[in-house]
Amino acid sequence: MLAGKKILITGATGLVARTAAETLAEHNEVWCTGRFSDPETERRLKDRGIRTWRWDMAVDELGGLPDDFTHVLHAAVERGGSDFEEVVAVNSVATGRLMTHCRRAEAFLYVSTSAVYAPKAPDHRYTEGDPLGTVSAWLPTYPVGKLATEGAVRALAVTLGLPTTIARLNVAYGPHGHGGLPVILHRQMLAGNPIAVPHEEQHYCSPIHTDDIARHVPRLWAAARTPATVVNWGGDEVVGVRDLMTYISELTGVPVDFVPSDVTRAVVAFDDTRRRSIAGACTTSWRDGVRQALQAHFPGTVEAHPDREASHRDL
Ligand code: NDP
Repeated sequence: MLAGKKILITGATGLVARTAAETLAEHNEVWCTGRFSDPETERRLKDRGIRTWRWDMAVDELGGLPDDFTHVLHAAVERGGSDFEEVVAVNSVATGRLMTHCRRAEAFLYVSTSAVYAPKAPDHRYTEGDPLGTVSAWLPTYPVGKLATEGAVRALAVTLGLPTTIARLNVAYGPHGHGGLPVILHRQMLAGNPIAVPHEEQHYCSPIHTDDIARHVPRLWAAARTPATVVNWGGDEVVGVRDLMTYISELTGVPVDFVPSDVTRAVVAFDDTRRRSIAGACTTSWRDGVRQALQAHFPGTVEAHPDREASHRDL
């Protein structure tokens, strides 16, 4: 367990970093930066003893923020719209400012994405050495911004001597923020809209619950090196998107309609060898985790699962 550290987290108002921030705050001094456009989320973070600091990555420098953090988790992302220049510039420059400001830290963790890999067959298990590519029909600017930022992170890890891990996150899901792909697609089902799928086969992913993300963060920090460690960060199980949404339909009774399309939310499945060696196994199975996420986002629509509730209390 990590204790007594001074930790800086970006993106804690979103899905991925919120549980990690709240968990780490139990035994460490945690600061979170962001725009805090939702005051309620900021209040809840403060209720957990977390200090908040306004930082808009698009415009602000970091003057005035303490620079003696021991650990940094950088999860904030400017997804942007269709402006490649803006997405690359905002994310790369903000990350450069952050790493430079926190150059004395013991470890820096950058949350990247599985979307940086070039497409292969749907059932391919991607390793960290697989070819990179930045083509996304769904959100064209996103993987370009993430890969550009990975470059900035690699450079600064070396020039600053800042031990760093780049963790390429798979499909994350959980009780906070937008809930992740399963919750987003369920909202689509509720609105009566079909889910776009490839013309053949289905996409596979390695979904990971935010409880497991929170457990892995200290171990990913422990693996930080110069040059940066790169690791695929997903769950233990590989799940087809069609299978995932069919399971949600069975749980909720909401019908799911699939429509073949050229424009899908392409996801990939990971070879988890390196992640297991660094961070260990996950504890939340995708079926229990998805059920719990649905309960959080759509209260009353899914029955509680006694086993899952028991394991959650043991956290
Ligand atoms: P969310 O969309 O839920 O949250 C985005 C976060 O970024 C918010 O906390 C937001 O804070 C912050 N942010 C956005 N723009 C700015 C800005 N201009 N200045 C400061 N902060 C900003 O993201 P997720 O939690 O889903 O994702 C977190 C990270 O994980 C990202 O880096 C993403 O690329 C990566 N990732 C996520 C996956 C997923 O399945 N969700 C999969 C793969 C990678 P605020 O609004 O308070 O400023």
